[in-house]
Amino acid sequence: MAETVSIKDQVRILVQMQERDSKIYALLKEKEELPAEISRLQNIFEDKKTALKSLEEKEKALAVKRKEEELELASKEENIRKLNTQLLSLKTNKEYQAMLSQIGGLKTDCSVLEEEILKMMDGQDSLKAEAVGEKARLAEEENKFKEEKKKIDQRLKEIEWAINDLTAKRNQLIPSLDKHIFSSYERILKGRGGLALVKIKDYSCQGCYIAVTSQVVNEIKMQDKMIICESCARMLYLEEDL
Ligand SMILES: [Zn+2]
Repeated sequence: MAETVSIKDQVRILVQMQERDSKIYALLKEKEELPAEISRLQNIFEDKKTALKSLEEKEKALAVKRKEEELELASKEENIRKLNTQLLSLKTNKEYQAMLSQIGGLKTDCSVLEEEILKMMDGQDSLKAEAVGEKARLAEEENKFKEEKKKIDQRLKEIEWAINDLTAKRNQLIPSLDKHIFSSYERILKGRGGLALVKIKDYSCQGCYIAVTSQVVNEIKMQDKMIICESCARMLYLEEDL
């Protein structure tokens, strides 16, 4: 077949093949990136879940601390009551004064505790309110994530179908290609990220955008073999020659 191969015909077929292969490579790239998009969305969702959990834990810790202080307050108040009854049975003024000051100290402690307890109650209220808001936002996020995942799964299926369809269509062209030209094309396609055949525009290779010499352009015009870009090693053609 080698002697009867028309380079012009081969290039015409390769142009069609490259069009399909470019689409296939773009789809493969998209397919590769989509799972990462799912994990990205999932991570955002999981982070929000963790944030809500920590909010709830903070509120719980505050409730425990408040309970402790309430017990302490109750025990101090009980003490004050006891001391107040003992006060009446004291014999000397000195003892009386000492106990009064003890009661005063306890009362001060109690008011400090009361203030702290009130602050903690406020803190718990605002944490609870925050958690309620977070929960609603989280439910919204979860729905969004599920919807997005469904869309992405659907897109993955479409990509799979499109790739199969395009692959079948590009493979139909193989029998019309010279064996050597096709194997070079395949090798370049795999080595050059899915772009094996590029046109020259304004004396510049459209694969690497480096200038080609007029000698290269003349060689292409002669159409007796496939010409390769000296910089990126892709197959070159001139659109106006086709
Ligand atoms: Zn090039």
